[in-house]
Amino acid sequence: MNLRFWPFYKNKSTSQKDDHPQIKVEHRLDREQFQTVLRSFKATRIADRLLVLDAFLANERHVTIFQLEEIISATHPELLDEAFIQETMSMFCQFGFAQRLNFENKETLYEHLHLGKHHDHFICTKCGLIQEFHDDILEDRQLEIADSFNFHPLQHKTEIYGLCSKCLALREPSLPLYMAAIGEKVKITDIMGGKGVKRRLADMGLIVGADLEVISSSPSGQQVVIVNGTRLALGSGVAEKIRVSHASHHGEKN
Ligand SMILES: [Zn+2]
Ligand SMILES: [Zn+2]
Ligand SMILES: [Zn+2]
Repeated sequence: MNLRFWPFYKNKSTSQKDDHPQIKVEHRLDREQFQTVLRSFKATRIADRLLVLDAFLANERHVTIFQLEEIISATHPELLDEAFIQETMSMFCQFGFAQRLNFENKETLYEHLHLGKHHDHFICTKCGLIQEFHDDILEDRQLEIADSFNFHPLQHKTEIYGLCSKCLALREPSLPLYMAAIGEKVKITDIMGGKGVKRRLADMGLIVGADLEVISSSPSGQQVVIVNGTRLALGSGVAEKIRVSHASHHGEKN
């Protein structure tokens, strides 16, 4: 969206009229409420902060502060001051217009907080894609479970880590064990090496057809896997010799 057509800051009367139907009603209400809150708190630079809010609301993605700065630099380069934008974002969060998301292995992201609308997230650990979902049955079930514990829930976040449909389609049918993702359940399809190697690995339960689960992989190539209910630490040399396929999981075909 081109922010030059963003109309709100022109004057007060334009913000009252809905002569820009492309702007969502809830965003317009957010803007009016934010302005009211800033005034009641006697905040400084209210007009500038509203411009930052416009840029933030114009975007439905989850953004980092850096990405928000990029959006702002296209239309209001004079506002580019990281401390100011960070402080304004903190106000959005404090006053209930944005929320902070801290996903594993990701920079802090911010998204709109639309009142009364809750959603949860899928996070692709390969490409970083974030997808939102909402499921009434899941939400109701969580409340029932909390109730059965006599627990009074205030808020929750459901984050599901895995592979998005694109990354899943690009996945190799068979791969060396060291390339398997953390958390992945795999099956050994082949073991490269002589009889001695195979015997040594077989002693640890590593035979063709065995099911493994990857617990961790270090950059040096060492891996910890679960085999037959036991944790095994494998050196990079061993992990290279074992080829695996993705075990069928949640109805996914091998
Ligand atoms: Zn939820
Ligand atoms: Zn992906
Ligand atoms: Zn979201």
